[in-house]
Amino acid sequence: MKCSACRARLGAYQDRELDATAAARVEEHLRACEACRRLAETMARAECGLQQLSALEPSVDFTHAVMARIAAQPAMATGRPRLTWLGVYDLIAWLVVVGLAAAGVLRWQAVVAEIGVWAGKAAVAGDVLYRIAQHFHLTTLALAGGACEIAIALMVFVAMGRSLDSTTLRGVRTTS
Ligand SMILES: [Zn+2]
Repeated sequence: MKCSACRARLGAYQDRELDATAAARVEEHLRACEACRRLAETMARAECGLQQLSALEPSVDFTHAVMARIAAQPAMATGRPRLTWLGVYDLIAWLVVVGLAAAGVLRWQAVVAEIGVWAGKAAVAGDVLYRIAQHFHLTTLALAGGACEIAIALMVFVAMGRSLDSTTLRGVRTTS
């Protein structure tokens, strides 16, 4: 038997999966070949180590302990500072609007009328919505709220675009 043939059968031999004839031929080669004998010993040790590893049983509360450790970790950064910033900006804008309205500085009717004109220019649907709201004196506040959200979003996008442009320009200037 050649070394390659012996090594190909070593795993099966050690797992006692070879028939008697094949096992005898492997044993015969191992007695004659030191290199293959060493390999067989190494494989046997590895097998033994693996069996010891599989004998390691996790403690009963292993999963619970791991989950508790994960829960105890400090919260990771959300990775969405822009969205967080947007939310904060939105909240502040609303607080300002509510504060102004409460102080009587902002008159909702005037705001709604302004928005209605703007919406009418922008889209027919907006105008229709405005007319319906005016006619039934309904959802004026909701309409104003939605329009405010759109206006805030537009302002934010414009601000973002400007900051983006200035960064790009700066990049161009430094590279040129
Ligand atoms: Zn050999």
